[in-house]
Amino acid sequence: MTSTLPPVPPSLAGRIVVPDDARYERLRHCYVHRGAPAAVLLPEDAGQTAEALGYARSLGSVVSVRSGGHGISGRSTNDGGAVVDMSRLDEVRILDRARRRIRVGAGARWGRVAQVLAPHGLAVSSGDTGDVGVGGLATAGGMGWFARLHGLTVDHVMAVELVLADGRSVRTDAELEPDLFWAVRGAGGNFGVVTAVELEAYETGDVVFADLVFDAADAAGLIEAWGAVLEAAPRELTSFLTFMPGGPGRPQLATVTAVYAGSAEHGAAERALTPLLGIGPPLRQRAVLAPYPALVPVSGAAHHGQQQLSATRSGLLDHLTADAARAVADALGSGQVLMEQFRSVGGAVNDVDPAATAYAHRTQNFSLLAATVPERERELDVHWARLAPHLNGLYLSFDTRRTPDVLAEAFPEPALTRLRALKDRYDPENVFDRNFPLK
Ligand SMILES: Cc1cc2nc3c(=O)[nH]c(=O)nc-3n(C[C@H](O)[C@H](O)[C@H](O)COP(=O)(O)OP(=O)(O)OC[C@H]3O[C@@H](n4cnc5c(N)ncnc54)[C@H](O)[C@@H]3O)c2cc1C
Repeated sequence: MTSTLPPVPPSLAGRIVVPDDARYERLRHCYVHRGAPAAVLLPEDAGQTAEALGYARSLGSVVSVRSGGHGISGRSTNDGGAVVDMSRLDEVRILDRARRRIRVGAGARWGRVAQVLAPHGLAVSSGDTGDVGVGGLATAGGMGWFARLHGLTVDHVMAVELVLADGRSVRTDAELEPDLFWAVRGAGGNFGVVTAVELEAYETGDVVFADLVFDAADAAGLIEAWGAVLEAAPRELTSFLTFMPGGPGRPQLATVTAVYAGSAEHGAAERALTPLLGIGPPLRQRAVLAPYPALVPVSGAAHHGQQQLSATRSGLLDHLTADAARAVADALGSGQVLMEQFRSVGGAVNDVDPAATAYAHRTQNFSLLAATVPERERELDVHWARLAPHLNGLYLSFDTRRTPDVLAEAFPEPALTRLRALKDRYDPENVFDRNFPLK
């Protein structure tokens, strides 16, 4: 196989993995899809990333960029093309403790970022899964456990270093190439290979983590009640509400997970969490004081396309109305949609000017992700069409579709037009088209 590939530049010797290499099996797939790329390139710094990108392009086939391999669309692998795998650029460094400034390599996993920051009393919100990579999430959004208190991950990105399609390494921040800085905070995967991100972390001690299970026979009632509690809750509280359908002999259950990230003194956490107990009949409840890294452990598991619910839809909602709740409950009742998960956003997410970042959704209070197996995608779409009147935009990282209408929902005007103009400037040959097609 190697013989069919052109010779690699000296700096990449030993950093190219082809199918007959012992390392290939661990590197070929991602979390959602299995793949059979012709070559996986493993650069270790920005210079090698530029060389790897140039080499990948020279193969004349698909080029995928991968950091943590958790992209829901599974496009960080491919069949027959090249993968630029950034996992070796995984340094996590505190640049300036007083200013809470940190630098993370694109290939670091968020769980490790949390582990490195915690002894310094710092954290950055990412998501609910420690294995997710910095490169994919910090360029798209980042709806995590501190969303209502601190906003999205992209809201704390202060600078990004990336290799552009033409091989140039650039740094962008509020002053340097500000248009590019706007674009990479929401649509970064379309503009280059990010090598490192600088972020402003926040002071964070232990958090209260609550985990409640409800009988979800009245799923619509639970959704509405949970939504009302979250809209009235202090910003320190961020919560997810997850449904898995029941079945014969299995009642439908709902799980509420919540993080209270403020001071636990004087009963504030209890006051914030107690209303959640009233949203339905609780079957189990637990609340513990935990260090933030315990919420986002890193498994380090090899990827083999293990995500079964690989057809997903995303929608954002301003409020959880009775009609929207009913539509979701009906879909669960059909047994065709195998997961529905609400997340609270709002709070600090909505403090940001919609024009400040390419992620432009700054009015909605909730995010909904619905998922099923590919064989039931048609039924998922029927459900989604019914829900559409209640939705206001979507988060592309939670949606596997690539159609133009989806892009328009993800980047409401004027964001989409601005992104397309910047695409012409920074990636005229459309090298970075894997995640979603801007052109
Ligand atoms: C189990 C699971 C849980 C999740 N939980 C959350 C959550 O709580 N909150 C949330 O906001 N999101 C969540 N996500 C979505 C996740 O943030 C995105 O899918 C993200 O893109 C994954 O990043 P990655 O680096 O791991 O992915 P990868 O598969 O490596 O990359 C995904 C895409 O991002 C782009 N990309 C990756 N690295 C780079 C780079 N260095 N430079 C430029 N572009 C790059 C590429 O286009 C690539 O196709 C979750 C996903 C999964 C599978």
